Amino acid sequence: MIKSSERLNKLPPYLFADIDAKKKAAIEKGADVISLGVGDPDLPTPQHIIQAGQKALEKAVNHQYPFGAGTLAFRQSVAQWYRSRFQVELNPATEIHSLIGSKDGLTHLPLALLNANDTVLIPEPAYPAYNAAVILAGGVSHFIPLLEKNHYLPDFSSVSKDVLKKARLLFLNYPSNPISAMATESFYASVIDLAKEYDFVVAHDAAYSEMYYDEPPLSFLSVPGAKEVGVEFHSCSKTYNMTGWRMAWVCGNADVVSILGRLKDNYDSGVFQAVQEAGTAALSGSQDCVSNMRKIYKERRDMFVPALKKAGWDVMTPPATFYVWAHTPAGLTSSQTAARLLEEAHIVCTPGNGFGPSGEGYVRFALSVPKDRLAQALSRIEKLKW
Ligand SMILES: *Cc1c(COP(=O)(O)O)cnc(C)c1O
Repeated sequence: MIKSSERLNKLPPYLFADIDAKKKAAIEKGADVISLGVGDPDLPTPQHIIQAGQKALEKAVNHQYPFGAGTLAFRQSVAQWYRSRFQVELNPATEIHSLIGSKDGLTHLPLALLNANDTVLIPEPAYPAYNAAVILAGGVSHFIPLLEKNHYLPDFSSVSKDVLKKARLLFLNYPSNPISAMATESFYASVIDLAKEYDFVVAHDAAYSEMYYDEPPLSFLSVPGAKEVGVEFHSCSKTYNMTGWRMAWVCGNADVVSILGRLKDNYDSGVFQAVQEAGTAALSGSQDCVSNMRKIYKERRDMFVPALKKAGWDVMTPPATFYVWAHTPAGLTSSQTAARLLEEAHIVCTPGNGFGPSGEGYVRFALSVPKDRLAQALSRIEKLKW
């Protein structure tokens, strides 16, 4: 028998692989499964972006290795988008690097920055890929619980000075997956001060910056001093329904951007240029498709959340993202709740403990199905006796 590396064996099981297996098993048994599990938009990529990609496919120059930071046109479209959306200036030559999805950059960053046993601060519940990447890079994750009483912002005063001194990197993610929490300018300012004091890098994952329903979220980079300490990760995945295309970027601190680029030069050969042309069309074209996307998710949210509350669930109305973070009913664990939802209602959700210890006692619903399916899901949930 061939064995995997010790490094790989240290990883917890990949959260969505387990859920996917259970879902497939239920479908094989003939169940009409409604999947509110994985956060993958069900809406199609907007037509003008598909057309730009189709045209780009025809060009022979795009069939070669893309290599490097990305086309200048793509990086310029990122800079222009940042200017108009966030009033942030970025230098396309040094401060922007394309990524094969933001997961590519988020997971390779620890490998590019950490030495053995360096500490990484991870507020949790969080996207599981951060911790996995730290383990694979030989680092040590220090989890900081995100608590309701702190508005789901990490309380750094709860972290010992020893840990802060060892920290090389901090992951942040607002609007957040799975909680759908938002950050404030004063929070980001305090993070910048702390990063300067303890000399760590800040990696802000802004994948959901455009999926909001009230106030538009801030860019971490719009706060003075941010570029001295950190980078921001962005993606076309959620904003333009392009999860399959793998088009994203990192931007901000030029040293971090270049270090990550150097690592990536040894792993991949860049983002398919036809996909970069589609990404350029997405960022530089009309943003009506984005407000339309927000409208659709808001309708789903405004239907799902009040009905869930009426059925006795304790849930927060998310100000952003397409996730609903719900307390489990009747004192059940996350796994018990997810298992019963699947077995008795054929609904897939994600158990909150998969996002970290503070996620225990919650499940996450992704509003990634049309309203009629959500209505079916609700009528099944309403019938459950907990
Ligand atoms: C969906 C998601 C991303 C985006 O991943 P891509 O690799 O760009 O598709 C990044 N971070 C979080 C927290 C996400 O939920």
